[in-house]
Amino acid sequence: MRRLRSVILAGLVAAGTFLLPAAPASAAPVNLAPSASPSASYTSPWENVAAINDGIDPPSSNDTVNRRWGTWPNTGEQWALLTWSQAQTLTSAQVYFFDDNGGVRVPASWRLQRWTGSAYADIPGTYATATNTYNTVTFAAVSTTRLRVLMQSGQGSVGLLEVKAIGEGAPQTGWNPPANLVTPLNEVWQHVESTYPNLYGFRNYGWDQIMANRGSINYCVRWDTSATVTAAQRDQIHAQLTRQFKKWMDVMAGHNGWPYSTVPLKVVGWAVRDRAQLQWSDNSVDIYVNDIRENAPQCAEPCGRFFNQSGNYPNCPGGASHHYDMSLWLTSGFGGGAGGDWGQRIGSEYFMSNLNTDNVHILLHEIGHSFGLDDFYDWTPTGVGGFLMKAGSASQITEFDAWMFRDWWRHLRSRYGV
Ligand SMILES: [Zn+2]
Repeated sequence: MRRLRSVILAGLVAAGTFLLPAAPASAAPVNLAPSASPSASYTSPWENVAAINDGIDPPSSNDTVNRRWGTWPNTGEQWALLTWSQAQTLTSAQVYFFDDNGGVRVPASWRLQRWTGSAYADIPGTYATATNTYNTVTFAAVSTTRLRVLMQSGQGSVGLLEVKAIGEGAPQTGWNPPANLVTPLNEVWQHVESTYPNLYGFRNYGWDQIMANRGSINYCVRWDTSATVTAAQRDQIHAQLTRQFKKWMDVMAGHNGWPYSTVPLKVVGWAVRDRAQLQWSDNSVDIYVNDIRENAPQCAEPCGRFFNQSGNYPNCPGGASHHYDMSLWLTSGFGGGAGGDWGQRIGSEYFMSNLNTDNVHILLHEIGHSFGLDDFYDWTPTGVGGFLMKAGSASQITEFDAWMFRDWWRHLRSRYGV
């Protein structure tokens, strides 16, 4: 679980250029769905209602890659529900229907409903049933703790791939952690500052990478195993990495000037010892063969952020759009994990056996390191129980982890002029 940071390089890159974000958060509507809890009238055992607000834009209505919500074989009136712990102000919603042209089809009709406190009330609007796209409904602003998608089935059962609930976002300005976390958060930051004297000089945290890209992140997969990979496995690896990374990004959406409601993740490259291990022929990702560093395959150094911390990639084949910020280093037989500004390293068998796990906790922990979060091998902040960054004491991002994460943004944001 130990983090490995490129502290040696830090002094060389202090003069790096950092671009300002494209737009401040206050100017943009925010998708509030990811902070809601999803539920439904019924979910087929092989589907997952968590799909409806996981933030993944489906490739089509017949999505065979990402999680889905569906009610097969149930028909008639069905619903999916987003519930928030506090009232949200909503001004529109976008619904992407699941339709496999078989047992699950778009509904005959549907509508949105809000919870009044005692009952569901229809939200007037125009309700389309297009496939392969979002169906957008705009309406006069409503304040509610629940948004329900109520459907009447048509030619089959019904399902949803994604729901976006668009609102103004809670205007969170400044630093507002829960009172019981103020003391332990202060302890953690003091510990960080005393442990890492170059903390503010280092310029390759995940924060720096996202800001340099204006709100996205690129990955290389270092396939450090002799196993083969199918195209379907490649896409599942991409999808799961996206879901795990998003859990940290959701912590920041709408918080304290963080400018991005979502941070798209793209796997741009694969590094492998033998091209024959990769069982696809399309050119959707760059492939790097037998470029060995640390006794493992890596993507080309001219394309790597770790090696080009100025953010310029003049010698990267294909140009800057083919650069990678981090590597997901999957090593056969590797136990535990490692994380730093260069990415995350975990066992290939561990990751491949957790492609559908909700919380891949070792990967989540290591991504935390990539954004600066520390380990807690020898101390525990006052009054805090288990949390993800204290290895072995939690298997998902806790509220304390989230606030430690936000604290890094609080202390670094001035370097971006935000
Ligand atoms: Zn660790």
